[in-house]
Amino acid sequence: MTLVTLRDVLKPALEEGRAVAGLVCLGWEDARAYAMAAQDEGLPVILQAGPGARAHMPIPVWGATLRNLAEEVDVPVVIHLDHGKSADEARAAIDAGFTSIMYDGSLDPLDKNIEDTARIAEMAHAAGLSCEGELGVVGYVDGAPSRGTDPDEAARFAAATGVDALAISVGNVHLQTEAAQGLDRARIDAIAARTSLPLVIHGGSGVPAAERLRLARETPITKFNIGTELRQTFGRALRNRLEQDPDTFDRIAILGGIEPDLRAAARAVLRGLAG
Ligand SMILES: [Zn+2]
Repeated sequence: MTLVTLRDVLKPALEEGRAVAGLVCLGWEDARAYAMAAQDEGLPVILQAGPGARAHMPIPVWGATLRNLAEEVDVPVVIHLDHGKSADEARAAIDAGFTSIMYDGSLDPLDKNIEDTARIAEMAHAAGLSCEGELGVVGYVDGAPSRGTDPDEAARFAAATGVDALAISVGNVHLQTEAAQGLDRARIDAIAARTSLPLVIHGGSGVPAAERLRLARETPITKFNIGTELRQTFGRALRNRLEQDPDTFDRIAILGGIEPDLRAAARAVLRGLAG
């Protein structure tokens, strides 16, 4: 088992011009497929439990689930709380054995975001975890609009919060079902010029694979969160399996049957960021 923090995997990635995938987990089968994909590729992986996952299954169960998977593989695994919204959630993640916490105060005014993120980062570091913050707003398709990250604010945020990684808004949007638009390279470069932190792109599914790799090589973006793209693979594979075998009713047989597709898709995502 190689349980590690964001710091452990993002620092070398930054130095070597590659990025690490933060894969959004929703249940046991997808999380297992992602851990095995990382093992297949010999690459580190960040297994993330976000708000959707936590509404579906409690944080202590996620902690045990992801730790169990990390024990099964030899590659570095970060167990990351995605979009944590409170100190209580951060505490629950620490108690459940997570190795990393994202605190998302991006909708708050700058001063409050800095103050709250600094407090959570201190709490995370005291317990040996890493912390990711967000500045600017990464919006949602058909939902909250985005607000681009201000480079000067990023410098202040980085210095005042002590976070280990910074999620930025540079044209990326959550829940994109097609990789279409390019990111704002000028804004990325301006942010990179004012802070030395590893940068994180949420909504990575909306960024074409070739652009993800280029950004990994040329900028301090070292973490791409990938959810939608793999959920589409999951949904498609599940639909195919049920259509091909309409008499199958057993959950383990159904979901077990789609794991190879998911594992292959996750391998491609991981490989695509590896430099
Ligand atoms: Zn996000």
